[in-house]
Amino acid sequence: MSASHGEFDLIRRHFRRDQPLRQATLGIGDDCALLAPSAGQQLAISTDLLVAGRHFFADVDPATLGHKSLAVNLSDLAACGARPLACTLSLALPDIDDDWLQAFAAGLFALADAHGCELIGGDTTRGPLTIGITVFGEVPPAQALLRSGARPGDGIYVSHGPDQGLGDARLALHLLLQDQDLAAWPATVRDQLLQATRARLEHPQPRVALGLALRGLASACCDLSDGLSGDLRHILDASGCAALLQADGLLQAASPALRLQDTSLALSYALAGGDDYELLWTAAPEHHEQVLAAARSCGLLATCIGQIEADSGLRLQQADGRIVPVDATAFDHFR
Ligand code: ADP
Ligand code: MG
Repeated sequence: MSASHGEFDLIRRHFRRDQPLRQATLGIGDDCALLAPSAGQQLAISTDLLVAGRHFFADVDPATLGHKSLAVNLSDLAACGARPLACTLSLALPDIDDDWLQAFAAGLFALADAHGCELIGGDTTRGPLTIGITVFGEVPPAQALLRSGARPGDGIYVSHGPDQGLGDARLALHLLLQDQDLAAWPATVRDQLLQATRARLEHPQPRVALGLALRGLASACCDLSDGLSGDLRHILDASGCAALLQADGLLQAASPALRLQDTSLALSYALAGGDDYELLWTAAPEHHEQVLAAARSCGLLATCIGQIEADSGLRLQQADGRIVPVDATAFDHFR
């Protein structure tokens, strides 16, 4: 759809920048943008659509929304081991609110600039608040990290920051929504937990550098958006194998704030949470030390949470040694 006069002004005011292009050869303002990946590289392309009321609260802070809309896309490039080049932004807006747009653009551009990801075009129309971003990255042929390369014997790893873990984001969301399960905790505890985890929900940091560092090391990779157990199943399905997770490893990777409060809840949030935007990958045992070093070089930890096995299915070995299927209701806090 063509932009009306008001929408052209909006694009000029908020999204067209005066700085010279670095990645693209033609940016905003023409019928197409032109993008030239480095010689011999493949384009990696991914897109995500975010709808108000479904993927975010319509009244969320716009700078946070700008950040997160791009972050979830950059996380997909990271999962493939691709280097970000550029993005497009499609916006449906109920009305033109310049303060809102300015904050949204600031959040988006701060993250885009940090990753050298240029906004090269998009589309703008009136409608219920919806944000569609497409990212373009590059990766050398045969080096993209896929979901299909896991093999029996490979270790299963997740990334996380030193004071962060799986389930942080979902814990923050449930605290914001005043989830019944957490209502038994004193308000001071809930406040502290929210303070410790809120940035992980609202400002996820896509693990782009780690994705690059895992080229040639990871046998399979994906990012964690829907919760570890579901996302790991994608790798298992694509690779045609099974996995045995270790509860102690998983706890090491789980939200530190929640772990201190309630171990079994921490395990359940780590398995079934979502919105983590960490990387989940597999690697052959001989790469173990290099994998740890790759994460360290990015200021992150890589925690081994289990092993790939032959056959199919996803199981968890508990601290007491018992092995249980992961869909056991005990771990299905979110069903
Ligand atoms: P077209 O009629 O070819 O679809 P538009 O009139 O919609 O083009 O947009 C004009 C220019 O502004 C195009 O270069 C387009 O890529 C860009 N553009 C439109 N909306 C956005 C947006 N939300 N962010 C960045 N660029 C945009
Ligand atoms: Mg258009």
